[in-house]
Amino acid sequence: MKLGIIGGSGVYEIEGLQNVHHESPQTPFGEPSDAYCCAEQDGVELIFLPRHGREHRIMPSEINHRANIYGFKALGCDCVLSISAVGSLKETMHPRDIVLPDQYYDRTKKSFEHTFFGNGVVAHVSVADPTCPSLRDVMAQTAREVIAAEGLPHAVHVGGTYVNMEGPAFSTRAESNAYRSHGFDVIGMTSLGEAKLCREAEICYQPMAMVTDYDCWHAEAGNVTVEMVIGHLVANTKLAKAIVVALATRIRDERACSCRSAMQNAILTPAASLRDGDRDRLGLILARHLDG
Ligand SMILES: [Zn+2]
Repeated sequence: MKLGIIGGSGVYEIEGLQNVHHESPQTPFGEPSDAYCCAEQDGVELIFLPRHGREHRIMPSEINHRANIYGFKALGCDCVLSISAVGSLKETMHPRDIVLPDQYYDRTKKSFEHTFFGNGVVAHVSVADPTCPSLRDVMAQTAREVIAAEGLPHAVHVGGTYVNMEGPAFSTRAESNAYRSHGFDVIGMTSLGEAKLCREAEICYQPMAMVTDYDCWHAEAGNVTVEMVIGHLVANTKLAKAIVVALATRIRDERACSCRSAMQNAILTPAASLRDGDRDRLGLILARHLDG
């Protein structure tokens, strides 16, 4: 099995793996954020991509999610987990807690970049449940075990709504309070596009959202600053890497989810109407459906 991992702020590499080499697959959607680091852990192939680049040069709204997810597909991954730094919108979700979101609220203006389709090929995939329940279950159990083994007090919250804002500035207080009034849980800048593209590519996807701050709504915690975020980020990074390594041998090929047949009946443009360019661009994504 090949396990794809997307690292967020603070997670630019995973140390201590064996047989490390790098791959840079060509994609019809442009350049991924960096070379993919391929390595082994306990007989499982891990394929890691830092979404902001190894030197953190790519702003959230500049990330080429299409190229990133296409690259995972090209390298043979049918399973991607991602690590994201988020702000908490709930009193009960503390800095250094882990949240495994099962919903998103889109505050970007980028929906046209969150699909492989368009330019002559139309498809509508369901994202009613946008993240993978099978990955979420194994991730929750593994995260709790790693946290307990390290004697840490952090909680793992299973499910929750991730508000995907665009950034790069953090929220205003009015925005933060508005999201809270809707009952949303965490806020970040990156995961939604990955989730939608993985669904179109029939890849299981689950983010592991690591809380770095209370956004700016919390009267006692004060306004979010970069310094405050960095302290929690460093601790979260260490924990995230430990959880990812532990996950490597626990994710099974057989998964009780429907992610890997998500495009069944989703493509409206008849296969006979596709042009050569469409097949060049989407052949990898739609192989099962075009040939069937
Ligand atoms: Zn799945």
